[in-house]
Amino acid sequence: MRKKIVLNFPPRTVTKPITYHLVKDYDLIINIIHAKIERGETGVLVIEVKGKKEKFLEAVSFLEKQGIKVQLLAQDIDLDIDKCVECGLCTGVCPTQALYLDDEWHIGFDKDKCILCENCVQACPTRSISLKI
Ligand code: SF4
Ligand code: SF4
Repeated sequence: MRKKIVLNFPPRTVTKPITYHLVKDYDLIINIIHAKIERGETGVLVIEVKGKKEKFLEAVSFLEKQGIKVQLLAQDIDLDIDKCVECGLCTGVCPTQALYLDDEWHIGFDKDKCILCENCVQACPTRSISLKI
């Protein structure tokens, strides 16, 4: 099973080795997509998790017991390349560089970096980008 999740850390938990526990105690493979964590402030971590479903559910229960809010990202972004005019507007609003222009100014999309913020959906003038359920 493979899921993208957003973790919201209350200030008291931001210094805890949470990802270490997810790997060691629940055998999950973690890919950190986006992180904003500062001591004394609320933290946000967007991760992709791979592993067994039952271990994942146990890990979510562990996180919630720590006071960490877990939000599942169940959707995907779909880029319709036939409609895209490669204007590059979406790349300017993408916070993780999941959308980019390559050396020849063609649009590229790295799905693994996407945090589903939907900025690109709003920005695209040709409606080439949509949320896929
Ligand atoms: S904003 Fe839309 S049309 Fe412009 S490059 Fe991005 S996907 Fe293509
Ligand atoms: S939803 Fe769009 S703007 Fe947001 S991270 Fe994904 S590709 Fe980038």
